[in-house]
Formats: sequence, C-alpha cells, structure tokens
Amino acid sequence: MKIYIDGKYYGERDAKVSVFDHGFLYGDGVFEGIRAYNGRVFKLKEHVDRLFWSAHAILLRIPLTRAQVAEAVLATCRANRIRDGYVRLVVTRGRGTLGLNPNRCGKPSVIVIAGKIQLYPPELYQKGMEIVTVPTTRNLHNAVNPAIKSLNYLNNILAKIEANNAGVEEAIMLNAEGYVAECTGDNLFIVRDGQLLTPPLSAGALHGITRAVVMDLARDEGWPVAEPNLTRYELFNAEECFLTGTGAEIIPVVKIDGRVIGNGKPGPLTIKLEQKYRALTRTTGEPIHP
Ligand code: PMP
Repeated sequence: MKIYIDGKYYGERDAKVSVFDHGFLYGDGVFEGIRAYNGRVFKLKEHVDRLFWSAHAILLRIPLTRAQVAEAVLATCRANRIRDGYVRLVVTRGRGTLGLNPNRCGKPSVIVIAGKIQLYPPELYQKGMEIVTVPTTRNLHNAVNPAIKSLNYLNNILAKIEANNAGVEEAIMLNAEGYVAECTGDNLFIVRDGQLLTPPLSAGALHGITRAVVMDLARDEGWPVAEPNLTRYELFNAEECFLTGTGAEIIPVVKIDGRVIGNGKPGPLTIKLEQKYRALTRTTGEPIHP
C-alpha cells in the first residue's frame, strides 16, 4: 500500500507522523471517510467540502486547495490501483510543542490512505441488527460540535465501548436533552406513519453525506421526509429503522433496547433504499482514471 503524506508516497512501514503532531497529541485535526466503487470516488466534492468546513470551524488552514485535495484522493487511488475501496483523508494540525497552543504548530499535514474497510458482518445486512442506547451523551454543539468531523472521536468511542459491553455492534447516542442524536459512526432513520424521519442536525448529528443521499432517494420515491426531534419512544414504535454511513452504507435495525422494531425484519422502504443506494454508488462519482 502506498500512503500519501504531504505530496509524497510512503510504504506502510514508513508512513509515519511525528509524535509532536497535535493530531497525535490532542486529536487536533479533521478527517473524512470516502468510498470508491467501480473505479469512481463517490460524492468526492461533498467530502472535500465537509473536510474544509470542519477545518474552517477549528481554524485549521489546509495547505492545499479543494481541487488539490480532491486530486490527492484520486491520485492515491490510482497509486494503489483501487477500483473499490475506502479512503481515509486526514488533515492534522501538524508538528508543534507539548503545549496545547495550535499557533506553535508548523504546517498541517495532509494524509490519504486508500484501502479496504468492512464495518459490520454481512449477515447483519440480511437480518438487521440490534442496537442499544448508551449512557455517554453526544457532545454538546457549544462544546465540540458534532458537525465537526474531528480526529477527537473519544465521545463516539466511549459509546461504542458501551455498545460492545452490551453485546451489540452499534450505539444510539442521545443528546443532553435526551433526544436522539445519531450512532457512533452512522446517522439514524426511522419510518413512521408514512414518513421517513431522521434527527435534525441541531440534535447533534454529523451532516452525513449518506444521510443527504438517502433523504433525496426517499423523496424521489414519493416519501415525505422530515427532521423532528426524536425520543426513544418514537424509535421503539417505528415501523422500520436503519442506519446510514459511508462505510456502513444502509444497514437495517430490527431491535432497539430489547424492543422489536416493526415485524423484526428489515422493512420494505429500507430494502428499497438499499437497492437504490447501491445502484447510485455503482454508477456515479468522480472517475479515478479521467
Ligand atoms: N455520524 C458520525 C459520527 C460519523 O462518523 C459518520 C461517518 N462515519 C456518519 C455519521 C455518517 O456520515 P457519512 O454518511 O457522511 O459517512
């Protein structure tokens, strides 16, 4: 595997960042997870835009233009002969001192890793998965805004550990008011009363790129889509539930906190959206080989 770091490629053993990089010392940096399907990078512009918005929000100046970052992603896919894969795009604050002050850091580092990822076992896509709500509250948006896709994922990792301790793969995180925010690495949707519902971004969810695609696909199918605040009660009484994310794509949920969702099987809208999403990912995107 060839890993891009600041304009050069390194083998896996030599792809290193400094222990003085504030990305390592403090989780000070931003990232994106991106997928390639069939020789194309899916929603590349949207991912690059979100990376720049995350960076802007933490006053991190990416030392490349958006076009250059997009090209670094495509070039790293070419260098690794990727047709189908997962790309991790990372920008760290750069090498600094042991103090917190980001102004003491030199130049931010841009890193692109193009490889593979498998998030959940394949049978969960067939049967649907069981998830639980966990005690760890989603970050407050006036503390570390969940809209910032930062390298500081400890909030999500704590929730993931709590899910694992409960014997399931994923956790639902509630915000400080008790409304549903999202899962540790995925957005959440339910179907109720003929509508597709997902928590509003203000509830503490990432502006998911898969989330936006799924909302468009559902509207194309004639489904009303809304973003109300949701409580656990609405989830328990949903007809369908599924999660969305670049890595997970669309994964059905059939049990939440021990309550069976719908008839306990992936629902018809979930299956329809999975099919449409799969078709879209295989036919659109930025060609790796122009
Ligand atoms: N929420 C969180 C916390 C995430 O990390 C992610 C991305 N893995 C998502 C939601 C899904 O976002 P996207 O569809 O853009 O991958």
